[in-house]
Amino acid sequence: MSDAYDVVCVGGAAIGAAVAYYLTENPDFDGTVGIIEPDPSYELAQTSRAQNSIREQFSHPVNIAISQYGLDFIDNFVENTEVEGQAPELNYRGTGYLFLAGTDDDLALFHEQMLVQHECGAMTRMLTPAEVAAEFPYMDATQIVGARMGTMREGSFDGWAFFQGYRQRAIHSGATYITDRVIDIDIAAGRATGVVLESGRRIAAGHVVNAAGPRARLIAEMVGLDLPVEPRARTSFVFDCRTKIEHNVPLTITPEGVHFRREQHHFMTGAVPDPDPAIAYDDWDVRPDEFEEQIWPTVAKYVPVFDQIGQVTAWGGQYAYNTLDHNLIIGAAPEVANFIFANGFSGHGLQQGPAVGRAVNELITYGEFRTIDMSVLSYERIRRNEPVHEKVVI
Ligand SMILES: Cc1cc2nc3c(=O)[nH]c(=O)nc-3n(C[C@H](O)[C@H](O)[C@H](O)COP(=O)(O)OP(=O)(O)OC[C@H]3O[C@@H](n4cnc5c(N)ncnc54)[C@H](O)[C@@H]3O)c2cc1C
Repeated sequence: MSDAYDVVCVGGAAIGAAVAYYLTENPDFDGTVGIIEPDPSYELAQTSRAQNSIREQFSHPVNIAISQYGLDFIDNFVENTEVEGQAPELNYRGTGYLFLAGTDDDLALFHEQMLVQHECGAMTRMLTPAEVAAEFPYMDATQIVGARMGTMREGSFDGWAFFQGYRQRAIHSGATYITDRVIDIDIAAGRATGVVLESGRRIAAGHVVNAAGPRARLIAEMVGLDLPVEPRARTSFVFDCRTKIEHNVPLTITPEGVHFRREQHHFMTGAVPDPDPAIAYDDWDVRPDEFEEQIWPTVAKYVPVFDQIGQVTAWGGQYAYNTLDHNLIIGAAPEVANFIFANGFSGHGLQQGPAVGRAVNELITYGEFRTIDMSVLSYERIRRNEPVHEKVVI
């Protein structure tokens, strides 16, 4: 096996695989790609613990554009990921996202965001409580002052198939996965020259990409940079409802920040824990109390038949949480010009994977963004302490 790659990705889950995919698909890139990933099962990666949905309803144009490209990628998923006539089954369900407004202030904010969404071609619409009751008759619309609904382009999919689609295609196109862990990064004259692996092996690199999810800060420290990304606990619960709901159940977000959606014959849900501290890197525990104390009373408030539900299963997860502004950090810092961040996605790294993989490939191949200009999401904003205000965070 080679001991030098033009590009080395630290981490080979959704983001590392997307970077490898776009580099190996790009005819202008003629280098080699090595991906260092210690856990081929991905048991402890966010990618295999996500809730697998995609939306256009962001408030910042760059996030809307990033997810719209994710939707385009999904539209052509088979063609994009086919290897020898086979592609994974994505099982996409277009249901829309429904944001419920609890106060007039929520409603005004939703409306303001809708205008930005329309400018970006995302045809979201405001609903009155009566319209919510007519379209989603299982809901108690007296609890809300209105809502905003996305198009049926928004929806959910099989996240594992999504990730494996571009991982398998990248491997087929020549990317090399190496089962090992990066424990250090060599630096010389302001450049990352290679990575040191747990096995003792050293691999020289032309560029190093930080795709280590919740552990991204540890990788940044290896090149002497600070990164405001930390693991935060996010538990997913699946529940069964005694009463069958025949209508569409979009991914619904309550004013309390609890979200739920249909998942096959059941429903999937989660919430932002209160309080929401940083957790240990190896803490993937379920927080069982959240279901009884926070989620159940909230979902039953808006959907009365959810008064009679039973938990089917639950799993622990981590967000790679950017404490400055919850948004992606992409690109290099001047101190180490060939060390590229793709970190801090919080709850939307799967849907952002295609656009981010393509953008990192552009930075490496051309030295600039060529499609979506993501410079507003650069590492420099961290240093300047200038958050990107994305108000639609779940
Ligand atoms: C509960 C939950 C729900 C979510 N729902 C959604 C959703 O609906 N839609 C959406 O778009 N996103 C969602 N996300 C977010 C999404 O899962 C992540 O943003 C995305 O998977 C990030 O991928 P990643 O490759 O950056 O990180 P990860 O999947 O965490 O992968 C990082 C990889 O780096 C490896 N690594 C770590 N340290 C090292 C090292 N030293 N050397 C080499 N490799 C290393 C790890 O082994 C791991 O495989 C959700 C996340 C959670 C937890």
